[in-house]
Amino acid sequence: MNNFLQNFAREHVWHPYDSLESPIPVLDAVRTAGARITLGDGRELIDGVSSWWSVCHGHGNPIIISEMEKQLRSMSHVMFAGIIHEPAAELARKLSEITPPGLSDVFYADSGSVAVEIALKMAVQYQSVRNPSRKRFLALRGGYHGDTLGAMSVTDPGSGFSSPYTGYAPEQFFISRPGIKFGEKWEPGVSDELRDTLERYQDEIAGFILEPVMQGAGGMYFYHPEYLKAARKLTAEYDVILICDEIATGFGRLGELFASNFAGISPDIMTLGKGLTGGMISLSAVMTGRKIREGIGYSSARVMMHGPTFMANPLALSAALGSLRALGSYDWQARVHHIGDLLRRELCDLAASPLVQEVRVLGAVGVVEMKRQVDTVVMQRFLTDEGVWLRPFGNIIYIYPPFVISDEDLLKCSGSVRKLIAGMERGEIAGFRA
Ligand code: PMP
Repeated sequence: MNNFLQNFAREHVWHPYDSLESPIPVLDAVRTAGARITLGDGRELIDGVSSWWSVCHGHGNPIIISEMEKQLRSMSHVMFAGIIHEPAAELARKLSEITPPGLSDVFYADSGSVAVEIALKMAVQYQSVRNPSRKRFLALRGGYHGDTLGAMSVTDPGSGFSSPYTGYAPEQFFISRPGIKFGEKWEPGVSDELRDTLERYQDEIAGFILEPVMQGAGGMYFYHPEYLKAARKLTAEYDVILICDEIATGFGRLGELFASNFAGISPDIMTLGKGLTGGMISLSAVMTGRKIREGIGYSSARVMMHGPTFMANPLALSAALGSLRALGSYDWQARVHHIGDLLRRELCDLAASPLVQEVRVLGAVGVVEMKRQVDTVVMQRFLTDEGVWLRPFGNIIYIYPPFVISDEDLLKCSGSVRKLIAGMERGEIAGFRA
């Protein structure tokens, strides 16, 4: 990009979670391929976060591109009211086949946050027939579900995502995140708070939303899948809609196709996004079953009052079909396990560092939790100089690579994290926030 455009962008283009008054530094990307991002100055960075957890099969995956090219030539977009097309039918068939039993129906939307909005609206509408006073939601502390109004309201209010908007977003109920970590011994008492809250506020709670097994943006926390079983049982008991937000965990990231599979549960609603199109283009899907279908059918409106302009955009759906084809074209589960093994081998001894709180790895996600809040800008500058693209946040440094990353590139990511922490230990890098 020429200097004029770069300066114009710096002055006028918003970036995620940033300001125009004192924006964080940005890099000029010109090309992506596989696990690499090429910058305008010719440098190559390894995309160690799969471009915000979406590009699971690598950038520019040829299978996805060929599906999209085919679709682009015949029909890029057509409105969805009163019209059906093969990509919508075919993807619905495939998603209902691979998601947990009972999730037979799909509502297509544009982004993860919008999928969460739809899920929340569905739950309220379901309850309008069964328990009309229930219009609020229960969620977990440490959870993140998106930045639109409803999604933001069920995101942990302590996380900062919603703090500028207090009083605008509806107030919801929050309970502690499950205290037993993945791999630890389960204790049934962990779900007591859930039971107590459902019992106490049963006249108000329409649904319970959670990220199964991994809380992502709330701190990359892995909890015991048994909690999901308890959540399934208790929500059924109290006729509360269980929403599993699999936007980050879906499509194999943790080693199971969906994180709900670790517990063998079927939620009433499952939201999908990110890896749904292999990160090629924005698309989300809300999977539902009989309960929601009937609930909405018997509600006074009788219909689901939601219909985005670009609902079921054929080009986006073709990317999702391509991504599913890509997923079937290699042993993704073996890749995920291999990445996990390598991350474990390369990161685990960092737990001995006086700066590190804990190291944990699940599926193809490696997390180094630091003892203090990190300085994202300082860390990112060091890491990009090393040739890797990682985005530490909060007190978390994490690696979340495309499944197709080479060992060499993955080792480069973990090696750079090691170097960063060693530099901090020696006092050469001020990686913590002042
Ligand atoms: N839910 C979860 C669990 C997520 O991780 C995210 C995005 N990080 C969202 C919802 C929101 O998705 P989007 O950014 O596509 O709106």
